[in-house]
Amino acid sequence: MSKQCLLALAYPELETLITGMGSPRFVAKQVWEWIYSKHVVDFDAMHTLKKGTREQLKATCCVLPSDVVERHAAGDKTAIKYVLKLQDGQLIEMVVLFEKTHTTLCISSQSGCPVDCKFCLTGVVGFKRQLTAHEITGQLLTAFAEGHPIQNVVFMGMGEPLMNYDNVFAAIDQINSPEYFGIGKRHVTVSTSGYIVGIKRLIADKRFINLAFSVGHANPEKRAKIMPIETRNPIFEVSRLLHQYLKMHNRKLTLEYTLLENTNEDSQAIAELIPLAKYLEAKINVINLNPHSKIPFSPVSEGVIKRIRAQIKDADVPVTIRFRRGQDIAAACGQLGESHLEKP
Ligand code: SF4
Repeated sequence: MSKQCLLALAYPELETLITGMGSPRFVAKQVWEWIYSKHVVDFDAMHTLKKGTREQLKATCCVLPSDVVERHAAGDKTAIKYVLKLQDGQLIEMVVLFEKTHTTLCISSQSGCPVDCKFCLTGVVGFKRQLTAHEITGQLLTAFAEGHPIQNVVFMGMGEPLMNYDNVFAAIDQINSPEYFGIGKRHVTVSTSGYIVGIKRLIADKRFINLAFSVGHANPEKRAKIMPIETRNPIFEVSRLLHQYLKMHNRKLTLEYTLLENTNEDSQAIAELIPLAKYLEAKINVINLNPHSKIPFSPVSEGVIKRIRAQIKDADVPVTIRFRRGQDIAAACGQLGESHLEKP
């Protein structure tokens, strides 16, 4: 019989569980504080609980819905990738990124991904299943329990978050809530490949979040070749909806643009990207591809990146170049999913 995961319980449910075990109500508060304030996931370390209570909890419950099965630290110490095994054996990946002033957690919303972007390893491994809300927050608690003081959470790991809308936003509510993890709304970013149903729900629900849109190519025909989602979710309609969404609040949008040699880096492609950024008043974040044997594209040279940056800057559009952290451990953007590939 699988154990009850405490992260899946709301506070009243935890109280019912604890009193059902014969312990007084205040013990639920103690357990809650150990988990959400002190980020302790080992019952033996919850020393304010009686030994008998700890033993009961150990026998029937677990705190996290997943175990860490692999840790890979980047040689340049800028990132650590974790492979987590869920209770049904599915594997997911998350990455802790160490930046100058803060620590960011790149989190997964699905095991695998159904979107099949041709430049992304997660797309190559395919879709396994949706993650539950507590499997998503479990990644954050794992990162804290591993000793990382996470300040920012980005949904840029495995999966298209807007295709797992209910679970992702249930998780975000807990990430933001002072009762749970207390990470402010402005410190959480969701990245989408442009899933129209999800963007329409954001608008209907008035769910205002930091959003990043992965463009791939601003030209619809060329985009469809590298991002098949374009066929049913045309970039023109996505852009119109994003424009409508952005007018409803004051958050800024980021356009993520992964550079692929001989595919989307020529001056004409960038000239098509610039009006999109102006229309959406967005910043462009340029990411050079992280090469992988399973991905049929190559990155561009430093010279090409400089040329693209200058072209975007000359058009008065803000541009950043994302530094490729953790490339040697396949923790960089678009490289999650290694754990799903068969080991040689
Ligand atoms: S880039 Fe994002 S949406 Fe596209 S396949 Fe990879 S994980 Fe899925």
